[in-house]
Amino acid sequence: MTSQDPHVNNTSDATEESASRTHFIHEIIAEDLKTGKFGGRVHTRFPPEPNGYLHIGHAKSICLNFGLAQTYGGKCNLRFDDTNPVKEEQEYIDSIINDVKWLGFDWADRLFYASDYFDQLYAWAVQLIKAGKAYVDDLTADQIREYRGTLTEPGKDSPYRNRSVEENLDLFERMKKGEFPDGSRVLRAKIDMTSPNLNLRDPVLYRILHAEHHRTGDKWCIYPMYDYAHGQSDSIEGITHSICTLEFEDHRPLYDWCLDTLGVYHPQQIEFARLNLNYTVLSKRKLIRLVQEKHVNGWDDPRMPSISGLRRRGYTPEAIRNFCDMIGVAKNNSIADIGMLEYCVRQDLNKRAQRVMGVIKPLKVVITNYPEGQSEAFDAVNNPEDLTAGTRKVPFSRVLYIEQDDFMENPPNKFYRLSPGREVRLRYAYFIKCEEVVKDAAGNVIEVRCTYDPTTRGGDAQDGRKVKATLHWVSAEHAVEAEVRLYNQLFDRANPNDESEGKDFTAYINPNSLEVLPRCFVEPSLKDAKSGGYYQFERIGYFCVDPDTTAEKPVFNRTVTLKDEWAKLQKNQAG
Ligand code: ATP
Ligand code: MG
Repeated sequence: MTSQDPHVNNTSDATEESASRTHFIHEIIAEDLKTGKFGGRVHTRFPPEPNGYLHIGHAKSICLNFGLAQTYGGKCNLRFDDTNPVKEEQEYIDSIINDVKWLGFDWADRLFYASDYFDQLYAWAVQLIKAGKAYVDDLTADQIREYRGTLTEPGKDSPYRNRSVEENLDLFERMKKGEFPDGSRVLRAKIDMTSPNLNLRDPVLYRILHAEHHRTGDKWCIYPMYDYAHGQSDSIEGITHSICTLEFEDHRPLYDWCLDTLGVYHPQQIEFARLNLNYTVLSKRKLIRLVQEKHVNGWDDPRMPSISGLRRRGYTPEAIRNFCDMIGVAKNNSIADIGMLEYCVRQDLNKRAQRVMGVIKPLKVVITNYPEGQSEAFDAVNNPEDLTAGTRKVPFSRVLYIEQDDFMENPPNKFYRLSPGREVRLRYAYFIKCEEVVKDAAGNVIEVRCTYDPTTRGGDAQDGRKVKATLHWVSAEHAVEAEVRLYNQLFDRANPNDESEGKDFTAYINPNSLEVLPRCFVEPSLKDAKSGGYYQFERIGYFCVDPDTTAEKPVFNRTVTLKDEWAKLQKNQAG
């Protein structure tokens, strides 16, 4: 899973988690605090567009914005950038609110919507028209594109560019009143059609959209463009540092132009590199397709990089926050290794997960010299990392299950687990020795018959003899039958976004990303396992309880395996 790709960022120091890293935005803020640029205030915002669910990339932005506010005793707003009524839905708003909360952040009473500002934004547009800085254009969208020119060729003025202020005011008002059909007219800023920055070639500020808005209903049929709404919303809210991703760097001159031309309070836009992760797509457009084309079972499918998917998978807010801290904040784009995220999840779950025994691919073991009908219970440590978590009882009896993978009839050299004639330890219990193998008609091993040594009770031999393997197990009579879902990467190549082979990203979906094991057996302490619980199935991985769990049958998701390729790679690189 860990990639050797030179573009993959493997440089963070695995031994130094959660030490809050310093980065260039801290430097900018420190300087502003020194010079008193914003009167010593730090006020950020997280501005999602409610047109999809949040994903791990958004978590980076959330941790950054809310984190800076925390660090400097400032504030961070949650603001929905709801300027496009066509793609936005209440479902997305609800999920975003829930996800930001779950990640552990609090906007207090500062939940805002760009749509709250539609009246003010309109008044400011009128102000721009009156100042001769905006005009109504009748060109079609295609014509506007044609007139815009290219990176190497200047644009051309629209024939409508020199309309009088009066005519512009009249037309803009009639746009608002709904007199014109969608797409027939737009309001544009009057800046410079020959600017080397295409964003300054008279960008569109308003368009006509006869669409019902989830908050303003049918009050409006013109809607502001993102570039116009965003800076002015920041200004209204008194944001100091308006942090966004790198692709907005070229938009900053327009952000500044609007605020300066209107002569209103002017926040500072700062750009940082967005999070990219290997084996993952983070574009909302692609994530929506995964859901709509049913490549996954909804937004909260545990294979999704959405916050709701990661939550259902068993990732914790602490792990995600640590990861965001570890990847840092930079000015240049890179691809983070999914192994680093998994490393953070293991680090956190190691501290909090209750250890249990569960057998996911069961093989029946009969202890022939253990009396029928007898059982006993062993004390098992709940968490060796946290002894205050105590112990629990694990029942033992004559018929057990072990993992199929822990037995081989004809073992190769380095296989030390159970095989005919071989003795192994059952965790917390006894040494057992394989005496006989039972097969079905097709020759598959369906049962292993063993003897146990009563003098090894607790798992150690008094005569000092050693065994090379310790297996986990459950007592068949006491076990709870469970369904276990194992997950692999949703994409089978490191960069599913690479379109150089002319293929769509869906061509790289891993057909084996989900493996359902309907008949697993877990120890009885898991009978009432509740959704939200975190467990380590010893030797198998970290698991959480899936909401599909019923009273009859618990369902567990494997969050991550125990094998930490990423940490290993760090160690090797360190030398
Ligand atoms: P779209 O590409 O559809 O506009 P978006 O991912 O930019 O989607 P927004 O809802 O506009 O979605 O994002 C809200 C905030 O999260 C923005 O400030 C954006 O810069 C930030 N953000 C989005 N994706 C990432 C990412 N991968 N890494 C860091 N920040 C991100
Ligand atoms: Mg966006």
